[in-house]
Amino acid sequence: MNTRQIIIIALLIIALVIPGSSLLGEKEYPKFLEEPWDHSPITVYIDEQNTPPHYSPSYQPTVIRALQYWEKGGNGKLSYNPVFELANTSDADIYIMWVENMEEVTGAEEGVAGFCRPMIANGRYVHADIVLEVGDYKGYSWQQYGDDNMEQLVTHELGHALGLGHSNDIRDIMYPTYEQRENLNPLLVQTTYPLIVISILIAIGISGYLGVGWLRYHKRRKRLENELLKEMK
Ligand SMILES: [Zn+2]
Repeated sequence: MNTRQIIIIALLIIALVIPGSSLLGEKEYPKFLEEPWDHSPITVYIDEQNTPPHYSPSYQPTVIRALQYWEKGGNGKLSYNPVFELANTSDADIYIMWVENMEEVTGAEEGVAGFCRPMIANGRYVHADIVLEVGDYKGYSWQQYGDDNMEQLVTHELGHALGLGHSNDIRDIMYPTYEQRENLNPLLVQTTYPLIVISILIAIGISGYLGVGWLRYHKRRKRLENELLKEMK
């Protein structure tokens, strides 16, 4: 390959990648949806009626603090300013409830302390359930979560309810410390979709230019699809 060919390929990659990454909004910050709620304020119901045996009344204020965190700008990754309003009925936008132990109650994998399950219609959230456990087993002994722990957990799950995905930055509240269940939401695939399209376009561009042909592109596409399927599992 001569210098001219290398430059042409480099330009091709730049031309494809730059518009692609602007599609993602914040570079490399994964989001389920940029602006999931079509109205404001977002109503929140904190279920203190159906609580598990080890529920602590001090958890309710942790939710309030987590809501205030996001109202004040949160981790700086939202493109809008959320405003919350507490509701008295369970048909609120966001429903928050606690269970005694996630693995036992919901059949979640080990290490899952909470999750957010949004319901989507026409590209917007219409409702989101947040389920949190109040403690976990450490070895054989069960330990209740303290308020600080709960506040971080609620804040993280609320981030999902506001449209954010997981951060790779360990200092970010959206780093998946408390729940590793990446496969919870099929929207994750939508988030990675533009990246996959870009990779395929680059593969076509390069293989076309070098005359490698369809077979290699096909193989590459197959590999991309396999990776995508792995993510979905
Ligand atoms: Zn998470």
